[in-house]
Amino acid sequence: MIPVKHRVAIVGAGVSGLTCGVVFAERGHRTAIFAKEIGQQTTSGAAAALWFPYDVEPANKVIPWALETFRTLIDLAGSAESGVSIIELRQFSRTGAIQIPDWALPLGGRSLPSSIMSSQVETSLDQKSVEFAGGFVLNVPLMDTTIYLGYLANRFLKADGQIIENVCFEKLEDVDPKFDLVINCAGIGARELAHDADLESHRGQVAIVPRIKDLPYAVVCDDAPLMYAIPRRNDCVFGGTNDLNDDLGVDSETTARIVAECSRALKIEKPNLLAERVGLRPFRKSGVRVERAHLRDGRTLVHNYGHGGSGFTLSWGCAEEVFDLATGSAGQRAR
Ligand SMILES: Cc1cc2nc3c(=O)[nH]c(=O)nc-3n(C[C@H](O)[C@H](O)[C@H](O)COP(=O)(O)OP(=O)(O)OC[C@H]3O[C@@H](n4cnc5c(N)ncnc54)[C@H](O)[C@@H]3O)c2cc1C
Repeated sequence: MIPVKHRVAIVGAGVSGLTCGVVFAERGHRTAIFAKEIGQQTTSGAAAALWFPYDVEPANKVIPWALETFRTLIDLAGSAESGVSIIELRQFSRTGAIQIPDWALPLGGRSLPSSIMSSQVETSLDQKSVEFAGGFVLNVPLMDTTIYLGYLANRFLKADGQIIENVCFEKLEDVDPKFDLVINCAGIGARELAHDADLESHRGQVAIVPRIKDLPYAVVCDDAPLMYAIPRRNDCVFGGTNDLNDDLGVDSETTARIVAECSRALKIEKPNLLAERVGLRPFRKSGVRVERAHLRDGRTLVHNYGHGGSGFTLSWGCAEEVFDLATGSAGQRAR
């Protein structure tokens, strides 16, 4: 049987839309991406983009998607042009010992030696002490968004994909009828496009600072105040925040607080500020929506949104499931 080739329209050019674009275009489907903003201007462009399941539901679906993505990213890390590398993640808690998640054990997750814990907690006398009470370490993929989003877009274009920006749809039926398949990767924009009141905007702000000497690993502490320092090829991302808020404007007091907290935890002088970024994590209370549906005009629609704080972490696993749902090839893929 000759497989059906679709004309595919993807709405959204963040990590979800670009990854789906690569999957469809490289398998021979004529694919176009339509988006209000692309790459760096999207929430994806503001992300720290470390592989780690965070602020997303439900665990029973998220972990398999995350593990599938992990495997793909490990392969991509072999090519320098992708902007993917493998980094040691040191995950800390201020409140007590952290249990290493079950899924992290086969990936090599291990407790942090107490020598590392103590070197992270010492602070100078005039500052409030930062106490990390527990932690574990795990090697994970890191996507440098300044390279990775461009890499995905180039791969898509090389496979004859088309990107059309500055297009803002009021409804999904507005996608040109010549496309028989529509994929909704609109991030927080899906709240209006899919009339989904379940989507919440979990606002995140980060500060970009120069590379920090002697920081070859990522430091993350998820309990309040959320704190992370993630070294990339040419700079370092300091975070962060996670508030129920739609405001895309930068708050300079928040930046100052982030830089102070990270500098204190790393025991360094406050670095210069290169840039500040804000993004709206598309958190969906009932869980990530990867689901086949129909437009009012009968065309097939596949939703792929609601990835919260894990859009990069789930990107390839979700894109593969979208492909299966769209083409009816579920079950054919080796997992
Ligand atoms: C500060 C911060 C740190 C983060 N860190 C990480 C991390 O370390 N690891 C991780 O995995 N995730 C992280 N995330 C989460 C991750 O960034 C998101 O889950 C991810 O970017 C969502 O990608 P997306 O492509 O679904 O949506 P977006 O990147 O928001 O893209 C949506 C696209 O849809 C388009 N669009 C929306 N509405 C319309 C419309 N009506 N018409 C046309 N186009 C439309 C937009 O223009 C855009 O192109 C972080 C997020 C933030 C804010």
